[in-house]
Amino acid sequence: MRCPFCGNTDTQVKDSRPAEDHVAIRRRRFCPACSGRFTTYERVQLRDLVVVKKNGKREDFDRDKLDRSIRISMQKRPIEPERVDQMISGIVRRLESLGDSDVDSDKIGEIVMDALARIDTVAYVRFASVYKNFQAADDFEDFVHELRPPAPKEDK
Ligand SMILES: [Zn+2]
Repeated sequence: MRCPFCGNTDTQVKDSRPAEDHVAIRRRRFCPACSGRFTTYERVQLRDLVVVKKNGKREDFDRDKLDRSIRISMQKRPIEPERVDQMISGIVRRLESLGDSDVDSDKIGEIVMDALARIDTVAYVRFASVYKNFQAADDFEDFVHELRPPAPKEDK
């Protein structure tokens, strides 16, 4: 594994342990060239997924990309990183079990939003607002409104 700091390919594994309830192996790595330390995860990959975008472009599914966008939406939310890892693994499992290696980007967005909605409403709204790329504030208002049960009427 190449060192992300100096590019040296001769790095060492210092420690391996199960993570995410045994669906992953976490390895602590050390680079003797620059003394850099980094972590890698090993996971089962059932199939190679290809994301089909709205404009028809195809690209390989990138778990790290998904991971980043989800973590951005969860910034400063009181959710344990381990729980986020589990959620992301769950999302990937769902994508892999759709039965087709081609997955529409819309479908991925839906599954992510579904998963986020169960964990944290704020993260869900953040993700959805970016994902759906709301241009008009009105649209966003409608969307947020949909999330909430109607407010009880107050007597004045
Ligand atoms: Zn290095």
